[in-house]
Amino acid sequence: MTHEMTFSSELTIDLDALAANYRNLRDHVAPAQCGAVVKANAYGLGARRAVPALYQAGCRTFFVAQLCEAIELHDVLGDDCTLVILNGLDPGAEDLCADHGFVPALNAPGALQRWREAARRRGQRLPAALQFDTGMSRLGVDGATARRVACDPGFATEVELRLVMTHLASADEPGAPSNAAQLSTFDALTALFPGVPRSIANSFGSALPAAFHNDVVRAGIALYGVPLPPGAAVIQPVVGLRARILQTRQIAAGTGVGYGLTYTAPDTRRLATLAIGYADGWPRALSNRGAAWHDGKRLPIVGRVSMDSIMVDITALDEGALGEGDLVELIGPGQSLDQVAADAGTIPYEILTSLGRRHARFYKEHGMATACIAGEVR
Ligand SMILES: *Cc1c(COP(=O)(O)O)cnc(C)c1O
Repeated sequence: MTHEMTFSSELTIDLDALAANYRNLRDHVAPAQCGAVVKANAYGLGARRAVPALYQAGCRTFFVAQLCEAIELHDVLGDDCTLVILNGLDPGAEDLCADHGFVPALNAPGALQRWREAARRRGQRLPAALQFDTGMSRLGVDGATARRVACDPGFATEVELRLVMTHLASADEPGAPSNAAQLSTFDALTALFPGVPRSIANSFGSALPAAFHNDVVRAGIALYGVPLPPGAAVIQPVVGLRARILQTRQIAAGTGVGYGLTYTAPDTRRLATLAIGYADGWPRALSNRGAAWHDGKRLPIVGRVSMDSIMVDITALDEGALGEGDLVELIGPGQSLDQVAADAGTIPYEILTSLGRRHARFYKEHGMATACIAGEVR
């Protein structure tokens, strides 16, 4: 028995599809450049595998959320890469950040101050992005701070501004009036920093008109296989998920299923118990909702999702079609990541980043699948 076979579920990650998605996004937003957001371990899929694949596809600008994520990726990044830390500059982290050559997205007056002090202390001009709050009230400096920095001649001697950026609150709603309002505020603020590359769009921003593409697009979720609206870059699925059958059974009308007996069979049913549960990132919100798939047939989840297992109704399949040890599709050709998220009442971002480390992972690259057990890819 190979090590991968000791796992009860399999996550497949198609790095060829990831690279194709990158190239399609890049071509769609050209002449703007396309950067890759690889925060949260590349949305749970393995940043140490995703980054080299994206680099080979031509990506040179990467974004993480936290300093620890940047450090984790330092040795897989080429010297010709820029790594931006979106959450900014943690107090006390200035020297670590500067030693590695990371680019913090300065997003508050205190962070600006601390980065400038570090530059003076080290006698070194330090790279940074500058993030503006243009209406989302999450991260970023306001207009007054931006103007103060732009008018301060000392700033440019201490900080080498690589990027000016902001983030859209409603990029996925093309008609939202806030998009145009944020763009016009951004245009006014970036005019204070002539010649510095500008960045406003995330994945869904790439599907907005070209005015939103600016100089650098920060693509995340679309790289990982979540489709964009018609007319935008064509996106292929990247992730597949399957789980093993632990046992099958037939139950009579009136029989209850799972914790709390929240499902009762209306007539004779055949069930399969699958080895996946909320500890694997399969959301408990899918209790009595959502499904597994096999052979083009939908197998509804019945009863509550447990920590390590779910029950699905396999009555639609021929008797004997599935048995102990067989793998059943949870994300794949029958059921998209988007569909799973919709059934669970959440967004695909949350499903992906929750998938966790309990699945055997198979990375497909250059047409070949390689097994990689959980833990090998951090
Ligand atoms: C996460 C993030 C992105 C990427 O967003 P997607 O919707 O995944 O493309 C871009 N910019 C910032 C500031 C982010 O936090």
